[in-house]
Amino acid sequence: MKVIDKNSDLINDFAEKLKLGELIVIPTETVYGLAANALDENAVKKIFATKGRPQDNPLIIHTYSKEKIFEFTQNQPDYIGKLIDTFMPGPLTLVLDKNLIIPSIVSAGLNTVAIRIPNNEVTLKLLELVDLPLAAPSANKSGRPSPTKAQHILDDYKADESIYGLIDDSDCEVGIESTIIKCESDKIIILRPGKISKEDLENVVDVKIEEYIGKELLSPGMKYKHYSPDIPVQISKDVIDNDNTLNISYIKSNIDTMKFDESNIYRIFRDAEKGKFSKINIIETKELLNNIALYNRIKKATNQ
Ligand code: AMP
Ligand code: MG
Repeated sequence: MKVIDKNSDLINDFAEKLKLGELIVIPTETVYGLAANALDENAVKKIFATKGRPQDNPLIIHTYSKEKIFEFTQNQPDYIGKLIDTFMPGPLTLVLDKNLIIPSIVSAGLNTVAIRIPNNEVTLKLLELVDLPLAAPSANKSGRPSPTKAQHILDDYKADESIYGLIDDSDCEVGIESTIIKCESDKIIILRPGKISKEDLENVVDVKIEEYIGKELLSPGMKYKHYSPDIPVQISKDVIDNDNTLNISYIKSNIDTMKFDESNIYRIFRDAEKGKFSKINIIETKELLNNIALYNRIKKATNQ
């Protein structure tokens, strides 16, 4: 895998390789993504094969402008323009009716497609250079914690030749995946919680917003094991006093352990499995339970 810095001129070569059907790892503000030309079925197949991703788990496509979102989707509700103007580029993914030019492998056979504009300078530049929609799930091997720094991708794929290149742009600021919302004419359904909350959306649009709970069937990928390091993760109310257990608590809780939040949770998972620990114990506090997006990722990492 060819690794380049965000300022490298080789970005032009990476854009050409994407057009030829190669895979490139892109930095975004949420997590690193494994990108391919969304209009090229064979390139998209490579994403599924390389990640070991189940075929029924649809991909998010990435683009660089409001106009492009309208080009790749159809029947957009009236409120969509306001959402795009307020939150994009940013960690929000819209699920809308798919335009026929998007191959059905991208959406795992659904009539809808998930689309977003990532807030990362070099990736926006790459999207404009390629001028194609890029399908890009999180760049981890399926089931592993999402990568928030370039080294995480090198750890997951080691000598795997199927990825042509990686753009290294230091650590992702948000650190957890985007909020995914299904945009229907009379309501919005939150399919995956993220940094952009229900309240954030309510402040912008005047339409009913339903929480994600119990909506797993509407978002095929949500049923799979996710975000797990190679050592067990558990949630408990107490600190475990044992050298092999890494105790961590949410930054806003008043407990004397190593602290975490969205921006470093996956890095802590990955560092712990490489270190001397055989278990991660996450202390459950009311502050953590109040952070719906973060608690969602932790709960899945425990495989519950
Ligand atoms: P990842 O790419 O790893 O962040 O995962 C993408 C998530 O988006 C998965 O949970 C998918 O189920 C969800 N997703 C993608 N496309 C759609 C869609 N058309 N409808 C509902 N959920 C989707
Ligand atoms: Mg993922």
